[in-house]
Amino acid sequence: MSISENIKHIRSQIPENVTLIAVSKTKPNEMLLEAYESGQRHFGENYVQELVDKEAKLPKDIHWHFIGHLQSNKVKYIAPFVYLIHGVDSFSLLKEINKQAQKNNRVIDCLLQIYIAQEETKFGLDFKEASDILNSVEFKELKNIQIKGFMAMASNTENEVQIRKEFKSLKEFSKQFPDYNTLSFGMSGDYLLAIEEGSTMIRVGSSIFGERNYKK
Ligand SMILES: *Cc1c(COP(=O)(O)O)cnc(C)c1O
Repeated sequence: MSISENIKHIRSQIPENVTLIAVSKTKPNEMLLEAYESGQRHFGENYVQELVDKEAKLPKDIHWHFIGHLQSNKVKYIAPFVYLIHGVDSFSLLKEINKQAQKNNRVIDCLLQIYIAQEETKFGLDFKEASDILNSVEFKELKNIQIKGFMAMASNTENEVQIRKEFKSLKEFSKQFPDYNTLSFGMSGDYLLAIEEGSTMIRVGSSIFGERNYKK
């Protein structure tokens, strides 16, 4: 199937209030444009340099989501245009985003990345660390960031029961913060299940663009 057919198919499966982010990391601009021409406006990228290059060349009404692990020293490159930063996993990163947003005279929307998987390798805050940030005085002083909600990745497993359990734990946690109601979870393999568990934003790569080839 073509990229536009893939997008159409996914859209037909998901409710209208769920945002579909087309994860385009490693994919060439022509493929993003094909998605754009079928109406797709939300794109997700993982690497700062790649995102900066693509933003410069592609249509200006694209909403660019940064979904990778963000290093503090690179925030300045995406601060002028980024639409939503998903992977905020420390207070110091949040402070840096606030600082760069201020320099650009804007408020940058962010999601706190929460660690829900049973694996050692994933980034993120645990529930207590996230609550501590959100309840702190220092956090309330940051005027140029806006927390919209939470992002998470489930364990890399075929075990649906396990994945559901992890998504449920995030949904449950998020109820303490009803103002932060964006929940970014679900990828190609589990987006339908994720929506059933309360996701409002799914990040889909290979089901739209095909498998990634990392050899550059
Ligand atoms: C690559 C990536 C995705 C998309 O993964 P697919 O399985 O190809 O849909 C989603 N979220 C994050 C954080 C990613 O790095």
